[in-house]
Order: sequence, then C-alpha cells, then structure tokens
Amino acid sequence: MREKGMINVVELTSKLIQCPSVTPKEAGALRLIEELFRDTEFETHRIHRGGISNLFLRWGAKNLPTLGFSGHVDVVPPGDLSKWEFDPFSGKIVNDLLFGRGAVDMKSAVAAFCSAAIKFSKQSKSDFSIALMITGDEEGEAKHGTTAILDWMTDNDQRIDHCIVGEPTCPKKFGEAMKIGRKGSMTCNFTIIGKQGHSAYPHLAVNPINSAIAFLNELVGTKLDDGSKFFEPSTLVATSISANNSANNVIPSEVKASINIRFNDCHNSKQLIKWLKKSALKISNKTNTKIHVKPRVSGEPFYTEPTDLAKLVKKSVEKITGVSPIFSTSGGTSDARFIYTRCPVIEFGLVGEKMHSINESVPLSQILELEKIYSKLIDEHARYFKEKF
Ligand SMILES: [Zn+2]
Repeated sequence: MREKGMINVVELTSKLIQCPSVTPKEAGALRLIEELFRDTEFETHRIHRGGISNLFLRWGAKNLPTLGFSGHVDVVPPGDLSKWEFDPFSGKIVNDLLFGRGAVDMKSAVAAFCSAAIKFSKQSKSDFSIALMITGDEEGEAKHGTTAILDWMTDNDQRIDHCIVGEPTCPKKFGEAMKIGRKGSMTCNFTIIGKQGHSAYPHLAVNPINSAIAFLNELVGTKLDDGSKFFEPSTLVATSISANNSANNVIPSEVKASINIRFNDCHNSKQLIKWLKKSALKISNKTNTKIHVKPRVSGEPFYTEPTDLAKLVKKSVEKITGVSPIFSTSGGTSDARFIYTRCPVIEFGLVGEKMHSINESVPLSQILELEKIYSKLIDEHARYFKEKF
C-alpha cells in the first residue's frame, strides 16, 4: 500500500471496503489503519466502550493548536446480496469506479484524510497538531462512537481547535456543498388510550382512533416556523399509526402513533416536547382519552458561523475542484452534532447520491480530489494556526 512512504489512497479505500465492518463490527478496518500509521510519528489510541472499538491518532504535541478530522469506518448492511453486481465487500474497481459498501459513506474520506495527514507529517515539522477521530459506531446508535472518543479526550486533556467531518455533503456535483450545521431530530411515540367496545354501539365506547387522528392532524397541520438564516423550515411528519386490531366489530382500547420532527435553530427539543405535551392534553380532554407522550431526542440543531474554518474549507475546495461550495444545513444527523460543543466543525466529503444504496460506488477521481482537498486544508491550517496562535 505504501511505496517510498507514499500511500495509494484508492487502494487503501478498497482495502477498507474489504473489511465487512457493518456496525458494530470493526472487522479489521481499524487494525488496517493502525498498521498504516505504524511507521509514522502519530500516536494511536484504541478507545473501547460498550462493545465498540474507536481510534484516536495524534501528530504533534497535544498542547499545540489542532486540526481534527472525524470519520467512521462502520457501514450499513448491504441489503439483498443478489441485487449487487459485485460482492459488496470486494472493493472491486471497474471502469474508474470503486464499488462496495462504504465506498461513499465513508471509507473513501477516512482513507483520504489518513493519507493526507501522513503525507503532511512526513514533510513537515509539527508546529501545530493533527488529530484523527475514527469511530466504529456512527451508523448505529452512536452511543459509544464519537461520544466515547470525546469523553476520552476530555479525560486525557486532548483538544482540537477546528474539526472537519468527512461525511458525503455534495448532492450531485463534487465540490458544490459543505455543511456548516444540521437540523435537530426527535421522534415521539404516543399511546392513545380510550375505552374498548362493540362497533355497533360506539356511544358506549371511547374510540382512541378518532382521538389519534385529531391529534396527528393538529400536529402535522401546525407550521413550526418559516426557516432561519441558515436553515430551511422545520418539518413534522407522522411516521406510524396502529391499533393492532383485526376484528371489525371491536373498537380498540388503544392506538399507537409516532411522529418525527426535524427542527432548526428556532427551537430546541425541550420547547418542542412541552408543546407536544400541551397539545396532547388539549386533545385528550376534548376526546375523553389519555395520551401518553414518549419523546426521544437524537440531536439538537447546531451550526458553525461561516467564518474562519468555513472560509478555509471553501478556499481549499475551490482551489482543487474549481467549484464554489455553498453553506448547507440539509440532511439528517451526523457525528458533527457531538463535536460542535468542542470547536467549530464543518463537514465536507463526496457526492452522497449513492450512499447506503445497492451497488454503492465512487469515481476514483473523486477519492483523489478529496485527498488533495484535505491536504490543502492541512496546508492552509499550518499557515492559519501560525498567524492565529
Ligand atoms: Zn456516514
């Protein structure tokens, strides 16, 4: 993989894909990265928690200003194997495309920032520091992944001043978007309890389905906001409703329903939960039912002001691709939601169209350009940190 200290980033990505690291298994992916860094000046730390293995690497003293890169080596399951043109864990290259689960999300980016960091470290003195945070739990619960690394960093006095997350960020064209933030996300499960009865005698029962419909209608019919400076309007959708009732002559006693809210910085989860509980009480009083509200928050909305770090990312992307990236906050959640409490964090990576899909693949040229962009970002930070600190 390495000739005269150089790394073939495409080959490294292919080797990473050959490790079937479906969450929570690391399947040799982290071992491969440790091996890659063996003859370098990077220190490596394995961080185990809750059955998950994570990796932290640092070049340069930990009290120096630090550029961090964050990524995950775990992948989602391949799905129906018979629909794949090639074995999803073969890392096969055909006609300038590298195929396999994790090609886009996000083994290419991990390979690209590892390679860029090693190359820089071999040519330069460490008057600043580079830290790599590589997790094995992003696609799953994300309970023992990046949060475990961040907790370990706190315990061990490990800082970062800027962080790049290598998730795919471009919708169609490479270079066109970087993410400066993400919406918050929460799911809420409701149990609506009425009074069971005969469907021919509805006046003797309390139908929880009527109440559930009224409640969901009220929720989905509410406009949460008009969007904000960096965010699209928040959304609320009903995701399930079930009475689990197969008898057509019975009014069921309870209904379960769920909603999912993707919310911008006009809200926080606490306010939204308060509103949901208030609405539930209003409808339950009106319909003579009981509504239990059980929220689960995956992340609060966040963004990094598009100042220093965002400008450095923009400049590096423009220089390598000739395309000017927009500041986006679209899409689901990512590990940036944990990192933003520590330092400014920006996400930049590949075109995301094919992530999680059958026949996931990435053009080789994109992997090479991504590595160049990360290299450029490291160069820019060498200058930036010198001026700033
Ligand atoms: Zn990802």
